[in-house]
Amino acid sequence: MNLGILGGGQLARMLALAAYPLGIRTICIDPNPQACAQEVTRVVTADFTDQVALQNFINSVDVVTYETENIPLACANEVAQYRPLYPSADILNIAQDRLHEKIFFNSLQIPTPAFAEINSEKELENAVSSIGFPCVLKTRRLGYDGKGQMILKKTADITPAWQSLQNSPLILESFVPFEYEVSLIAVRNQEGEIRFYPLVLNHHTQGILRYSEAPLNASLLQEKAENYLRLILEKLNYIGVLAVEFFYDGQQLLANEMAPRVHNSGHWTIEGAQTSQFENHLRAIFNLPLGGVQPIGQSFMLNCIGEMPPLASINLPGTHYHIYGKKPQPERKLGHITLVDLNSKDFNEKKTALLKHLS
Ligand code: AMP
Repeated sequence: MNLGILGGGQLARMLALAAYPLGIRTICIDPNPQACAQEVTRVVTADFTDQVALQNFINSVDVVTYETENIPLACANEVAQYRPLYPSADILNIAQDRLHEKIFFNSLQIPTPAFAEINSEKELENAVSSIGFPCVLKTRRLGYDGKGQMILKKTADITPAWQSLQNSPLILESFVPFEYEVSLIAVRNQEGEIRFYPLVLNHHTQGILRYSEAPLNASLLQEKAENYLRLILEKLNYIGVLAVEFFYDGQQLLANEMAPRVHNSGHWTIEGAQTSQFENHLRAIFNLPLGGVQPIGQSFMLNCIGEMPPLASINLPGTHYHIYGKKPQPERKLGHITLVDLNSKDFNEKKTALLKHLS
């Protein structure tokens, strides 16, 4: 079984590592010559629009998936003509655009922050008057880790925000005064079998996920979130892992965005769940029975951003070190560390110790 992965970053790397024990061989395509999956699998360095490279890539695999939603739709459609592509190109089309995504959520009665499409400064002024301050102006496409976003707190912020983001299609959203952020990761295979991991509590700063904790033991929210994801999965005949991020405002879950792929807030599942999100994604797309999603104790995952603590400095039983082999750069995700513990007192002490490494 040969799997093609569009993209060769850390998510492709972890998919490749999960694929080996299942007898699945992987090959990635990525325009970045330093794509970090190349330490563990073959990565073809080519633009996604390079027809010759793309055809060779397609010819060498049985099934294709992607590790990022920033794949040109034309490339996904091309792949889908020759090989099964999971999740499908239609799903990518929705998930690539924050506006399409929110319209889609609302069409399924999944609540979101109030939002408006913005194509001019006048539209921005009008949308601000109906949505109110504070609000967030975001690029609709190609945004990740809080990039391409500006918070507007007062009238004087409107023109500078418009001037700095006006070259891209935009969306304005109400700024949610959330109590916390959570994500739910689900997996669905070709038989329509669905499994849900427990809700994950996520902590972001400057738009980047810093750390996650799972399971969030909140059965009512879990049930609500599962109902929402089931609607999405069934509507889209979805195959693979899906992550949806929500704000919890004290009353309800509001969907922020979805990622049609394995997700940073699911990295704890490698050691902290019966089956990792990576293995379950592979199982889903190769039409294998899904693995269990039960957590093994309590897990905490720390993202290492900008710098990676040396391996020798992490001297806590139950921790697992993952370095991605990327060149250090400010704000770049270089690795993560997961702590899994069965004892809540030990867990809290170790979590506090790990948080000292928060960059
Ligand atoms: P995003 O790229 O949309 O996931 O945004 C990154 C992070 O910015 C989120 O995880 C939140 O912490 C924050 N954020 C984004 N949109 C909003 C919003 N409408 N209200 C409050 N916080 C937001």
